[in-house]
Amino acid sequence: MNPTLRMSCPVLAAAFAVAISGCAGSTVHVAPTLELSADAASATAGVAESLATSETFAPVADPLAQAEPAVLDLFDASNAMTHVRYLADVVGDRPAGSVAEREAAQYIAGQLTEWGYAPRFEEFPLPNGSSSRNVVAERTGTSSYRFVLGAHFDTKSPSPGANDNGTGTGVVLEIAQLLSESDPYATIEFVFFGAEERIDGDPDHHHYGSRARVAAMSTQERTDTAGMISVDMIGYGPAFHVRTMKRGPQTLSAELLSYATDRGIACTFRIDPGATGWSDHEAYELAGIPAAWVEWRDDPTYHTVGDTASHVRVDKVDTAGELVWGYVTGLDQARVEKLR
Ligand SMILES: [Zn+2]
Repeated sequence: MNPTLRMSCPVLAAAFAVAISGCAGSTVHVAPTLELSADAASATAGVAESLATSETFAPVADPLAQAEPAVLDLFDASNAMTHVRYLADVVGDRPAGSVAEREAAQYIAGQLTEWGYAPRFEEFPLPNGSSSRNVVAERTGTSSYRFVLGAHFDTKSPSPGANDNGTGTGVVLEIAQLLSESDPYATIEFVFFGAEERIDGDPDHHHYGSRARVAAMSTQERTDTAGMISVDMIGYGPAFHVRTMKRGPQTLSAELLSYATDRGIACTFRIDPGATGWSDHEAYELAGIPAAWVEWRDDPTYHTVGDTASHVRVDKVDTAGELVWGYVTGLDQARVEKLR
């Protein structure tokens, strides 16, 4: 764990038996109906910042042996499921460029703002003349390194997209909330991608959000980015995998598998055989950034109306969430150097 982890939310306080007042709360709020105002976002961020800096805890003697299980327990799949239900049951089908996709982006940005982040929308055009957007936020780290946690929130019609990919979105949101008042070693960038799914019959017409995000990264940002995880479809199926196209650095996939093995999580490598990949790790991997896709498979309701929240398995979401959360929260200098 990060020994400088700071705590001021009920979930953190409960785990460490510390009572703290003044938390902004961990409840899930309904989507805002207006665009975010920059002033409102920075004001919220300021409040969170002052809370965070006023409550610092001393490092524990042996973080790996003593504190990591407690930190792992902080990940709450039921919070992730609240996001899944909102996206699938309230917003529903949200294909690239649609009003519903924008509504989902607003919901995500609204949640991040509640937790003190200052999210921004990254607009990008689609070849059919419409446009989509990513939602991007970050928690600043203590080093110059960066690490990206990503999940797409669009769907393939007519699916309500609970597992694909309300689950990945929910897990990344839950991790963003958990990290909202910590000082990670690497800056953690949360990217919620629009337009991941194919928009027509051309198998290359997908991953627009992640391709736009990578295209906008500076040379310095690419150099500083130690890794990227795409969390995509982690709520159903018998087999848990870390996947890559094997066309970029394989350090992150190896590290994730090793992390899983050390903690008794059954997880194996499976290649992503798509010519242009099957999830948002594609652009990062092709840019030479250590990238990996975490997935439970197969889901028979994939891209159908049957992909509802009630069909998602909370235990699968929990396993994937704990793997990603545990790995990311333990990302220190030694782990970053293994990725380089
Ligand atoms: Zn997906």
